Amino acid sequence: MKTPNLVYISLGSNIGNRLDFLQKAVHKIHQIIGEVKVISGVYQTPSWGFESDDFYNACIAIRTFYNTNEVLDYLLQIEVNLGRNRKGDAGYHARTIDLDIILSSEGIINTKRLIVPHPAVQDRKFVLVPLAEIAGYEEHPILRQTVKELLENCTDDSMVSLIDKKIINPKAHYNLSQFQYLTIEGNIGAGKTSLAQLIANEFNAKLILERFADNPFLPKFYEDMERYAFPLEMSFLADRYQRLQDDIAQLDLFSDFVVSDYDVFKSLIFAKVTLQEEEFALYKRVFGVMYKNLPKPGMYIYLYQNTERLLENIKKRGRNYEQKIMPEYLNKINKGYLQFIKSQSELNVKIIDVSDLDFVANRVDFISILNQIC
Ligand code: ATP
Ligand code: CA
Ligand code: CA
Repeated sequence: MKTPNLVYISLGSNIGNRLDFLQKAVHKIHQIIGEVKVISGVYQTPSWGFESDDFYNACIAIRTFYNTNEVLDYLLQIEVNLGRNRKGDAGYHARTIDLDIILSSEGIINTKRLIVPHPAVQDRKFVLVPLAEIAGYEEHPILRQTVKELLENCTDDSMVSLIDKKIINPKAHYNLSQFQYLTIEGNIGAGKTSLAQLIANEFNAKLILERFADNPFLPKFYEDMERYAFPLEMSFLADRYQRLQDDIAQLDLFSDFVVSDYDVFKSLIFAKVTLQEEEFALYKRVFGVMYKNLPKPGMYIYLYQNTERLLENIKKRGRNYEQKIMPEYLNKINKGYLQFIKSQSELNVKIIDVSDLDFVANRVDFISILNQIC
């Protein structure tokens, strides 16, 4: 997975329903650009240089997989979307929303269209005060002072006062912890692991990933399915059982919920496709004994992906032993999952069609999945 970029953004509004513009901007930033990590209080500053309402200002920190230049593109789009009119916008006019990039983990950027750190940050109390609240110890990579120090040394003497209104973090809207244990399922190459990782990173969740890489039978299985199906399915079952037993049953004080990229029932779905009839009967008995003791997911998500794209993804991730997988095998697995889902009346299941989504590359696709889950 790409390394995330931490970006500090200052928001300002001085016309119309200013708090509403700040809130809407934060909401759009969250939906389009990245996770909103922290939000400062809202501050009011008298505007200078022109006649208009006081400014409302705030700062946020976001974690995004876009680079800072791309972040600027999106911010400019959001400004327009929220009614900012750039034509005739010379000097300090009233504006519905102004979104500036103040600092970024990319450090110093100096191009025609983007300068980071923002060149005026050290001169503006209305930026430094909210920024100090959420990033007091961040260092300015050119001036080599922390935000707190910049504020102490700032000669701007305007009145920046905290007001009694708050911007709500859009993340609060996604109450995933209600499920306690969320499982992401899907065919080989559907994107289970990526989605589970994205969710765990964005929310305070404990991540449980399948350890397929350690399974010595897996490469052998793809060479000779008949010979290695049984030991493969048995070792998967043992491993899945043990991990779920250890990791979920155990109370975790540091995370709000658990997210995994597999459900133990997967063992039975695959075994039904790969095993001979008698082997499967035996497998089913062992499975039944173990299954009883395992915690069941509060939400079971099945990522549906068409076979063509599954094969594409398998090719792209390039695991040698998977390259021989045939479309018929994937179709059988998909059918097995759908049969299982149909047969489960107590399970809280959601089938999400990701055929036309790319939730790794596009934040909006990820958000659309979260919206479907909640
Ligand atoms: P100031 O940058 O002094 O606060 P402003 O916010 O009023 O002024 P805008 O008209 O909003 O200026 O922006 C003009 C251009 O500034 C943007 O189109 C953008 O390309 C460029 N720019 C350069 N660096 C930044 C930055 N760090 N954050 C936002 N915009 C930037
Ligand atoms: Ca500005
Ligand atoms: Ca600006």
